[in-house]
Amino acid sequence: MNSDFFFEAHRNLPRQGPGDEASTLRALVLAGSLPEELHVLDLGCGPGMQTLVLARALPGARITAVDLHEPFLDELRARARAADLDGRLETLAADMAELPFEDGSFDLIWAEGSIYNLGFDRGLRLWKRLLRPGGVLACTELAWLVSDPPQEAVRYWETGYPGMRQAPANMEAARAAGYDILGSFPLPLSAWRKDYYDPLRRNLEAMRVRRADDSEALEVIAAEEAEMDIFRRHGTSYGYVFYILRKP
Ligand code: SAH
Repeated sequence: MNSDFFFEAHRNLPRQGPGDEASTLRALVLAGSLPEELHVLDLGCGPGMQTLVLARALPGARITAVDLHEPFLDELRARARAADLDGRLETLAADMAELPFEDGSFDLIWAEGSIYNLGFDRGLRLWKRLLRPGGVLACTELAWLVSDPPQEAVRYWETGYPGMRQAPANMEAARAAGYDILGSFPLPLSAWRKDYYDPLRRNLEAMRVRRADDSEALEVIAAEEAEMDIFRRHGTSYGYVFYILRKP
């Protein structure tokens, strides 16, 4: 897929993946009691809707937000400034597979809709050293929510996300990686639509007019629409699941 057109389609969205404020706050409650002054790492932060939710909910937190794509970090910084939350925020353009932090640097690691870039197991393994003992990792991961999902959805995700497992298998993987499980819940269907697919669809409509003569752009648009179409038909058989995990 042409990544310039992909990023054009994904410009100026509230989020770059499913999620909502209520789910971020619910996961934060499941994380349990946290020190008043804490250091949070938000990985694959995108334009940072969840970063700002965390900044508001944790007034004593310093937050380091990491993403590979600079324009998302620009969007996050602008939003943080507008909300007067930029004083406690640091952004870093880096690869979440090679983070330049010392072991035990963080009380809380957050990763909404981003661990899939490494693979769930690899992300859990690589990030563990960054947590202090007792620190918490909260992340969302795409998983099957039913034991016998529709064939059309299975075929789509076989290429879209070959590693996709049943939600309980991810819990098993988290335990095997040496975490305690503090909680887990699927994101509601509305978390896909309101701040992600609905605004993305509006971007795609405008782009289809702007790029009417560009077959590569139209291919990117069609691929995005295919994903939304599978979700419209089969979005109850799979979903993003929040996992809240503690390093013992
Ligand atoms: N957490 C945000 C964004 C999720 S989309 C939200 O929920 O809205 C996944 C994000 O991960 C994108 O912003 C993408 O640029 C970023 N990303 C992908 N691979 C990455 C990597 N290797 N290192 C850091 N960020 C990465």
